[in-house]
Amino acid sequence: MPESLKILFISAEVAPFAKRGGLGDVAGSLPIALKELGHDVRVVMPAYHHIEASLDSGQYDLEILPGQLLVPMGRGLFPAGVFEGRLPESDVPIYFIAEGNFFNRPEIYGYNDDPYRFAFFSRAALEQTVAWGWRPDIVHAHDWHTAPAITWLATAGQSQDHFRGIPSLFTIHNLAHQGRTNWDIFDFLGIWSHSLVEEAFSEVNFMARGIYHATLINTVSPTYAREILTPEGGAGLDGLLRHRAYDVHGILNGLNYAEWDPESDPRLASHFGKDKLEARQRNRQALQARANLPLRDDLPLVAMISRLDWQKGLDITGHVIHLLMNNVAGEAQLVVLGSGAAEYEHMLARLADYHREKMTVFLDYMPDLAPLIYGGSDIFLMPSRFEPCGLGQMIAMRYGSVPVVRATGGLADTVQDGITGFTFFDYSSDAFWNALGRAIYTYQVDQESWQSIQTNGMMADYSWKRSAQGYQQLYEWAMARTI
Ligand code: ADP
Repeated sequence: MPESLKILFISAEVAPFAKRGGLGDVAGSLPIALKELGHDVRVVMPAYHHIEASLDSGQYDLEILPGQLLVPMGRGLFPAGVFEGRLPESDVPIYFIAEGNFFNRPEIYGYNDDPYRFAFFSRAALEQTVAWGWRPDIVHAHDWHTAPAITWLATAGQSQDHFRGIPSLFTIHNLAHQGRTNWDIFDFLGIWSHSLVEEAFSEVNFMARGIYHATLINTVSPTYAREILTPEGGAGLDGLLRHRAYDVHGILNGLNYAEWDPESDPRLASHFGKDKLEARQRNRQALQARANLPLRDDLPLVAMISRLDWQKGLDITGHVIHLLMNNVAGEAQLVVLGSGAAEYEHMLARLADYHREKMTVFLDYMPDLAPLIYGGSDIFLMPSRFEPCGLGQMIAMRYGSVPVVRATGGLADTVQDGITGFTFFDYSSDAFWNALGRAIYTYQVDQESWQSIQTNGMMADYSWKRSAQGYQQLYEWAMARTI
């Protein structure tokens, strides 16, 4: 096994160039951590409109590579341009595939021809390696957009010396979006492929094909990797995933430690670390002041930061807030930051209006306020219905706010009951209230245990380095499989 692997990393989103969710964060951070482990990683993404536009402004410091990339699609060759840049604060190269008709549009996603756009992108990303004379040891593709690269590699690609035998890893960040289209796409991609049982009549499902054709598959936490094998969590693809159950792995995402560090975060009122917990007090006061709540230090300050979405467990939260605010577990204060579905915004606004002297809700997206909430609250709520990985609970732990979470997906993998936080299993207000009640009780009567829970959480390792080591292991297993 070579020590330094050649990794082709293909993604539709790479932060900070384009980000709509966790995928962009992973693709912006993981390649840098892989490079630090000594690997030769090359990232490829589409040159969306704002990236083309940045050539003039110089915002991203990109270079237009000479010549054209000729991408075999259908019966012809499609020309594309390629820009080269670097991931910020690193020397990881990133290449942008520029094809005006496909990518120079106002939005990243949401067009009827998205499957064609990303099939083209996927094929171009692979073809570039021929132009470089660089044969990857592994192709790492993400979500349905780049699954065509995996399918092409496992089928038509096998007839070309350059690609024969290259293994692939397919990472699922969001199983709900599957990239469904019609069979004509196979002519466009230049492949012949049989149907999968999971695909409806005359339909191609790229997510299903990525799962079917990849050497190995992973998702963003071990527990979520098991949950997607069940009908409840499988988004219609659980049968296919069970068929490949031994090849489905889970690796937790990391946290960007440069951005989320309580010892240097400029958005905090006071910096602190696990040996300087008393300095959190100033953040607590600053948060109370900002939230217009009485400056009291004799009660727990409970917080929640979340997209207000069905996934996030808001429907079991209303009753819990009602009990909390009616002092059923003793006095407490509550701060909520979130925006999203109108029904949840209304619910929270009504509760906050009713309990004005102890509850404040910010119905907005406020990245500058979030750190103060993590660093100033005592308890952080995350009662998600499902959670592939979850960042909120990791940030809360690093910032000394003890998480109360539903034990699902990445939450189950990161929060240990009574050790780094409090967990519950049933998706119900009763179970949620029980866990929150235990947290508040511990806070009130056993400060010593409380502080050890806080510091245990602050010491946990959620670095990208740890994630990258997990991915390196999967690459090696995938390579061993194809020798
Ligand atoms: P998801 O990606 O499903 O929304 P995560 O827990 O993985 O959930 O990530 C959520 C991230 O977004 C966290 O960093 C959280 O602090 C941030 N966030 C969510 N809502 C808001 C908001 N209203 N204002 C500021 N940051 C928010």
